[in-house]
Amino acid sequence: MALLQISEPGQSTAPHHHNLACGIDLGTTNSLVASVISGETQLILDKNNEAMLPSVVHCGQSKLTIGKKAIKFALSDPTNTIFSIKRFMGISYSEADNIENLPYNLIDSGGNFSFQTSRGKLSAIEISASILSELKKRAEDTLGGDLVGAVITVPAYFNDAQRQSTKDAAKISGINVLRLINEPTAAAIAYGLESGEEGIHAIYDLGGGTFDISILSFNKGVFEVLSTGGDSNLGGDDFDKLIFDDCIKSLNITNLSATQIQTIRQLAKIAKEELTTKNSADFLVNGDTYSISKTHFESLSEELISKTLLLTKRAIRDAGVDLSDVKEVIMVGGSTRMSLVRDRVSKIFNKPVLCSINPDEVVAKGAAIQANILAGNKSKDDVLLLDVLPLSLGLETMGGLVEKVIHRNTTIPITRAQEFTTYKDSQTGMSIHVFQGERELTKDCRSLGRFELKGIPPMAAGRARILIEFQVDADGLLSVSAKEETSGVKSEIVIKPSYGLSDSDLEKMLKDSVVFAQEDILLRQLQEQRVDANRTIEAIDSALEADKGLLDENMLNNIISSRDELAKVVESDDSVLIKDATLNLEKVSSKFVEMRMNKSIMSAMQGRSIDEFNE
Ligand code: ADP
Ligand code: MG
Repeated sequence: MALLQISEPGQSTAPHHHNLACGIDLGTTNSLVASVISGETQLILDKNNEAMLPSVVHCGQSKLTIGKKAIKFALSDPTNTIFSIKRFMGISYSEADNIENLPYNLIDSGGNFSFQTSRGKLSAIEISASILSELKKRAEDTLGGDLVGAVITVPAYFNDAQRQSTKDAAKISGINVLRLINEPTAAAIAYGLESGEEGIHAIYDLGGGTFDISILSFNKGVFEVLSTGGDSNLGGDDFDKLIFDDCIKSLNITNLSATQIQTIRQLAKIAKEELTTKNSADFLVNGDTYSISKTHFESLSEELISKTLLLTKRAIRDAGVDLSDVKEVIMVGGSTRMSLVRDRVSKIFNKPVLCSINPDEVVAKGAAIQANILAGNKSKDDVLLLDVLPLSLGLETMGGLVEKVIHRNTTIPITRAQEFTTYKDSQTGMSIHVFQGERELTKDCRSLGRFELKGIPPMAAGRARILIEFQVDADGLLSVSAKEETSGVKSEIVIKPSYGLSDSDLEKMLKDSVVFAQEDILLRQLQEQRVDANRTIEAIDSALEADKGLLDENMLNNIISSRDELAKVVESDDSVLIKDATLNLEKVSSKFVEMRMNKSIMSAMQGRSIDEFNE
């Protein structure tokens, strides 16, 4: 709702009321905040004129330290100095515990986890919130007022749990989230691609510890993620390691202390960054000078870069396009400052790459532009953002099968409803179990949550009309509601899974859905056959209970033995066997079904004795 600005008589109102909003790039290595100030997109700097806030939090007993100052504690107090908190967002205890070489004390709390620190137990969300608070404060100090809200960026592959955790962190830090948007989409907006022609764009993002490649299409005013790919363990740190290893080798260093390792790592990183603008770099280790030329560093780097190019080609293939279809290639992430990276990427696309905007600032700038629009400072029609679902969403149906309600790669926001019915006579409740994944069976998909619909009026099986609606909002969050249409009974949940998937899990789930496609179809057939068989058995049982008297002994025995035969094979793995036994039971009892039908017709007519008509 718009508020009218009322002014004192005689005083003029400001010509344009400007709502303060910002864009936040909550990065694994570095975080930034930007805003549109007087029509210009600007990075918001700290007191020392630095835009980049290292995403590091030191949880000291008396004080929480964030950013550059926190890095200093890495050596003296590693357990309490949390780096790369983004990796821990929306994952489970076991997933977090699987990350190698962590110096932290992780505490399991029923699948979730927290960090045991000098400040007590802190969750990933709380630690992330402290980074957001720092950025919020910086923005409000600079802009001179309270923020209306912020747009926060997340990787395109972030799942529901990871997005929800990011929103929760924002909430704790007192930030109103105008929208979560995908990092590659933000980069595309920063370059104003939404005001250009329609087409396909590639966003190559090489950060500190991760590599992400996203293929976006811009079509009819919307951005759509066609595919994502990358490696969550490949980034600038690996390039530092090349120099680190080369240094150890060339100076013949053995027996390094933890402190020395840390120091050489930091020196290697500085040297790497220097090599972007210089032809050689050097530093001192124990009085010896280590020196490396740009050419040598580049020759060492080839392998890592080739890896990213391979993943890029794979994402292009997944998007169903060709390298030559790509209109613009955007460079994102501090590591794309390396000219060799730009050259190699440019070469595979056979065109110059976009790198005029600082690659480590481009995401925050795009988010700021979007925030400015969403805060109401420009027409909302300026950019309409649409993203796609990374994995299909569906429901468990009889026999442990997943019925997909919204398919993978559907653009969001979206609402989709589907009608379901009851399986049993007089069924008054229904358990609704929501799954995410591409496979056919619930056991191969991921459970997101379940809820009950109760109070369905008793009806014959198949008569109830239960409308289940899935709604995914613009931030990629899901809510599910169920309503029995004849009675109006309703129930719903908002899915807030307690933990999520890593991108490698996501990749595995997608890969499995292809690898096991054939097997899944067979399993689905088997399960459907079983459901069908059980339904037939139940129908026969209730018919026998009601009208056994219609049958002579021979017919009755025939039906019972066919029924028992089917009951015997129903749990076997042979769908043909189950099908044959079902058909057999249906055949043997067809006369009985007919007799019952006649009986009910006859009793409806004139109430005459059925025997008269049965000959
Ligand atoms: P993230 O998205 O993971 O938060 P950034 O986009 O901020 O990370 O990238 C950080 C990485 O960029 C670090 O590994 C850093 O060393 C690297 N980097 C920054 N400047 C340069 C440079 N001039 N040359 C090479 N690498 C650089
Ligand atoms: Mg980044």
